[in-house]
Amino acid sequence: MILVLRAGSTKEEVAHAEKRLKELGLEPHTLFGVERTVIAAIGDERVTTSEELASIAGVERVLPILAPYKLASKELMPTPSVFEIGGGECQVKPHKNKVAFGGTFIPVIAGPCSVEGRTQIIEVAHAVKEAGATALRAGAFKPRTSPYQFQGLAEEGLEYLAEAREATGLPIVTEVITPTDVPLVAKYADCLQVGTRNMQNFLLLKACGASPVPILLKRGMSATLEEYLLAAEYILVAGNKRVMMCERGIRTFENHVRNTFALATVPALKEKTHLPVLADPSHGTGKRSLIAPMTKASIACGADGILIEVHPDPEKALTDGAQTMSVKEFAKLMKECKPVAEAVGRTM
Ligand code: PEP
Ligand code: MN
Repeated sequence: MILVLRAGSTKEEVAHAEKRLKELGLEPHTLFGVERTVIAAIGDERVTTSEELASIAGVERVLPILAPYKLASKELMPTPSVFEIGGGECQVKPHKNKVAFGGTFIPVIAGPCSVEGRTQIIEVAHAVKEAGATALRAGAFKPRTSPYQFQGLAEEGLEYLAEAREATGLPIVTEVITPTDVPLVAKYADCLQVGTRNMQNFLLLKACGASPVPILLKRGMSATLEEYLLAAEYILVAGNKRVMMCERGIRTFENHVRNTFALATVPALKEKTHLPVLADPSHGTGKRSLIAPMTKASIACGADGILIEVHPDPEKALTDGAQTMSVKEFAKLMKECKPVAEAVGRTM
């Protein structure tokens, strides 16, 4: 159920409604919107009635949430969620720079697939910043198909990422692949990425939900939209309200690309959720030549952010070189994106 509080409701009224819901055996999840505060009452609704909920002081309306995902649903929060990543929340070499997702501005998270070394990541961080990127991405823990492939530099890679943030001010997005590593990665990162292979790793989702750091949740390569939104729900209900979605391509019969970039997912998700929806044309296509056109298409169809793999020398990249842009190509693309963003009422 959703409790919509009266416009201008006080802190005391919110606290009272939360207390009353707990007494009734429901878990309150409060969202402070621009105009209204709403409280999602999560749990077995048979413990109460909508009349009982409507009688709580300060409550204007009580509505059911019909979608199976509750906290992720637009039924709960019809206006987009806007939140920041960065701002010095992490513990190692924090930087005060932050970037907002979900607003008019479309941030670009760029960087190599993997942290390969100190010089590489610091060099690429400066280069993508210069080209207009607003955050730095690179994996220190890599989920690889083969155990013989490069697995990432682990904590050493996180140290280099923190140095790159210190040098450039770019907030860091990096992947976490096990629940036990969440506190470690959160010490260094401004945003934790949960990759496509882990979208339904429910223990990882719960651990991310317990973390104070925002989460970038990629779509599972064989997940339906509903399964994807329910994965986000795991994180939200565990207490972390800063979740970003990201379409990164799905597995189909098509073999001219690495993945089929299901771009209709972007506007479809935005019909169903208030969470920011990003797009990753690098993994979405797997082909360097397709990244630029599909980035522009992502912006045109409403993406709230873009993820692109960029490397100083893509041919020599240890991972995902075929879907990685050079710094020069990335800089050119950033310029080309601006008019596309403006055409759909956004900025970059
Ligand atoms: C990545 O971002 O490098 C990555 C491994 O992504 P995905 O989980 O989408 O394959
Ligand atoms: Mn990659």
